Amino acid sequence: ATPAATMVGTSIGAQHGVLFEGGDVLERVRDTDTVVFDKTGTLTRGEMTLTDAVPVSPATDGAVPAADDAEVAEGSDGDVADDPTERLLAAAATAEGGSEHPIAEAVVAGARERGVEPGELDVLQNVSGKGIRARTEHGTVVVGKPELLREEDVDPEPAMETMRELESEGKTAMLVALDGELLGVLAVADEVRESAVAAVEALRAREIAVHMITGDNERTARAVAERVGIDPENVRAGVLPEDKADAVEAIQSDGSRAMMVGDGVNDAPALASAFVGVAIGSGTDVAIEAADVTLMRSDPFDVVKAINVSEGTLSKIK
Ligand code: ADP
Ligand code: MG
Repeated sequence: ATPAATMVGTSIGAQHGVLFEGGDVLERVRDTDTVVFDKTGTLTRGEMTLTDAVPVSPATDGAVPAADDAEVAEGSDGDVADDPTERLLAAAATAEGGSEHPIAEAVVAGARERGVEPGELDVLQNVSGKGIRARTEHGTVVVGKPELLREEDVDPEPAMETMRELESEGKTAMLVALDGELLGVLAVADEVRESAVAAVEALRAREIAVHMITGDNERTARAVAERVGIDPENVRAGVLPEDKADAVEAIQSDGSRAMMVGDGVNDAPALASAFVGVAIGSGTDVAIEAADVTLMRSDPFDVVKAINVSEGTLSKIK
């Protein structure tokens, strides 16, 4: 681009809350033929709510009660061991009390709403992309994916059907174990950002391929992809944080020029590997630093605007 085109493009972009950084960014944005979205915090708000707490017991046997059914009577005398739902919530909230993951915040807030206060936490260990392990006043607590429980020699099978049902509703489900005993399943839900559907539609109308990468499980990922209009074959789920960059490279291995759009700390390497890295403005500083473009409004449709601005200025101003 000529300095004039760069200046005009940068300034028009800024008026739309789209910050282009660096000289040849406009060209790369224009030449993008594939957009890869991170799921959590990018296509979705990243603000989660606890929706389900389902203890494993013969009585529940795969049934998924609504959040209301999981409510704990107020003024219960604090004997956590008596009520299976309360026990499940107490163990999980105590462990998650030390984590900053959006899932953790949802679990703690959801437990409190149901009258369960988190207890004392001694040691917390984050298991990247899988969950957490904690030593608490209740005992050793594990919260996360089935594979994490298996690593702890806990058989997730009795809760798998419940888990799958919750996941196919687009929720993120987690198993909870205390001292080697499976307590049950928790699920959190996150809202799809309003403009995500229109953004995917507009990109596809321009014959730009749209993909999604997430650390979340396959079923939840597909349910969200379906809601926003992304083809199931373009969904990569269960991608560990350290593997996100490789996933982008795999998408680009056929010569595709991919724009990766993400928000989180663990998205930074993927943003750097992509032909163009785009950070959603509400995300972390690390992501913004790694990005070529920052979307100040955290609006996925601004991806389309960025492409429009680059095409417009580059074709008009020589
Ligand atoms: P994303 O790629 O969607 O940003 P992460 O890589 O942070 O997700 O997490 C991937 C998965 O790991 C989550 O969907 C969840 O199953 C599990 N997980 C991560 N952190 C926690 C936590 N604090 N508690 C329970 N599960 C967790
Ligand atoms: Mg994320």
